[in-house]
Amino acid sequence: MTIVVDTILPPCADSPEAFLDESLQATVTTLNAAERERLKATKAAVHRQCAGCPLLVDCLYRAVVEVDVSGYAACTTESERALIRESLGIEVVRSTLTPYGAPRVGGGPVSHEAVLTSRQAYPKDTCQQLAERLGCSTSTIKRHLRRDREQREADAVRPDPTVVANLPTIDEVLDAFDALETSQVA
Ligand code: SF4
Repeated sequence: MTIVVDTILPPCADSPEAFLDESLQATVTTLNAAERERLKATKAAVHRQCAGCPLLVDCLYRAVVEVDVSGYAACTTESERALIRESLGIEVVRSTLTPYGAPRVGGGPVSHEAVLTSRQAYPKDTCQQLAERLGCSTSTIKRHLRRDREQREADAVRPDPTVVANLPTIDEVLDAFDALETSQVA
């Protein structure tokens, strides 16, 4: 007998690169008009995919309350999820390895250690200069530096046991999400 498992992948599993696009995390105030328009379109595209995803509510709750994942998830950027946590008065520790929205680990041949070593050797170099030295893209450099910063931040944070005892409800998370401008994007 042949057992057929009908598994439908969520959009983020089907095309993860769109959800890990660094530009989605950019601060709008640092962008020019053309870049803002591009960001708006890119964000609207992934937002629509999350909005139509059957896992949205669970994904949002986990990404806000349980695991500080990298990238775009559940119609939110990393800073938007930080805003939700702030409004809920909670904090989560960034995980270095999760099955649910794994953090970036660098996609090119340049190792994490090589980037950090170059940063240390050339502290005044821009990301572009470091990228030229290592023969990779600027976004690869930024990704590794960011991963390093996040790891150091995570190491510095210790979970607060009182937070665990007072986890917000799904409704509270949804209310905080609805208060964000991003919930209206699609
Ligand atoms: S809601 Fe979550 S699981 Fe669904 S596509 Fe978005 S990030 Fe992926």
